[in-house]
Amino acid sequence: MNNKLILGIAIGVAVTIALIVSFPRAPVNTADAQSSMDWSPTQPAPKLDVYYPGTEAIKPNEMRIVALGTGMPSVRPKQAAACWLAELGNGDKFLFDIGSGCHERLAAQKIPYDYLNKVFIGHLHVDHMGDLPSLWLGGTVMNRLVPLRVWGPSGATPEFGTARSMENMQKMYVWDIGTRSGVIDFRGGALEVHEFAFDGVNEIIYNENGVVVRSIPAVHGLDGAVSFVMEWNGLKFVYGSDTIPNKWYVEYAKDADVAIHECFLPPTLLVTKQGFAPMEALMVGTQGHTSPEQFGKVMSLVEPRLAIGYHFYNDYDTEPEVRKRVRKTYSGPLELAVDYMVFNVTKDDIRVRMSAIDEEIWPSPALLKKIPPDTRSAISFSEFTMSGALGFPEVVNPIFDEINEMYGTDIKPIFTQ
Ligand SMILES: [Zn+2]
Ligand SMILES: [Zn+2]
Repeated sequence: MNNKLILGIAIGVAVTIALIVSFPRAPVNTADAQSSMDWSPTQPAPKLDVYYPGTEAIKPNEMRIVALGTGMPSVRPKQAAACWLAELGNGDKFLFDIGSGCHERLAAQKIPYDYLNKVFIGHLHVDHMGDLPSLWLGGTVMNRLVPLRVWGPSGATPEFGTARSMENMQKMYVWDIGTRSGVIDFRGGALEVHEFAFDGVNEIIYNENGVVVRSIPAVHGLDGAVSFVMEWNGLKFVYGSDTIPNKWYVEYAKDADVAIHECFLPPTLLVTKQGFAPMEALMVGTQGHTSPEQFGKVMSLVEPRLAIGYHFYNDYDTEPEVRKRVRKTYSGPLELAVDYMVFNVTKDDIRVRMSAIDEEIWPSPALLKKIPPDTRSAISFSEFTMSGALGFPEVVNPIFDEINEMYGTDIKPIFTQ
């Protein structure tokens, strides 16, 4: 090895050490910072900057917001379609939009389903309501025993409104409902629908337990799209759902603690990554949705404590470009959300972390006592279908005996032959 090479390696090592010393990993929240002296070969790791659902109490004055869907109508493993969970220190929990694929992320929060009974839908695009049937009917086998309550806007005419959409959804799933009635405690299958006027400006649509939710019009798709403003305990949360920049959002989101607004990919990336034609990219990206520059302009007028952009495929090669363009028009606090990002919001602090997810999720036990179903309301098979069933009594009867003995019941199989 010649002297120059040795010198080069020595300089390289010195520079590396200097970099490590001068850029230690900065903890996001200094209250949780622990020195490296806390590490031990026999003790658990010091507190990491990760959120583990189901393990943290919400403080009485805190709002916890979880991004459960931040992507596009086409769901992909990394990002479901639009859905945001807001949990309050008073115990209330609210879902804002319930887009395709988000139910899986919601289940990962390990929250009993009876608490997940309030859904606010900003508009009736599939990426904002696609998993509603799954939460509604799937939720009944996850032990939700209370009705699912749904708030959504009217449309230009009744057939474009939320109430009609919910009526049609119940018709669409009549077979599914038929299989469950009289078989399980199906009280959770009840739907409570609250349609409100899409053109109400800052009208109260929910006011319970100290929580007020207002609706403001959005400009997106057709008449019948809205954004939401939720206020509780001096905290203001604004959820845009989908909208191009509009005067109502700028006025009523003002001074929000957290302001969420769509932030689409710039038209350049809609062409190169999404495969849009230039015309489509410009029209969809700036006239039907909000480009990063437009998003930044909105936030520079709203001046929230934290601006959150979502609704784009957020990857290593798109996020820097989106951020750069937002920064042309907005210099305040900013997050560009991905699924499972968590925001703990109080008057003094906004903490942002990612979640670690347990994939093997089971339902929480029912919070209410289950009522045995009225089997008379069960729909029976035709004689034709019954004639094909193989009851295998020699196999099935012992299974019934086992449960009847364990729980003191006297349940009999349907198929006896
Ligand atoms: Zn939409
Ligand atoms: Zn959307």
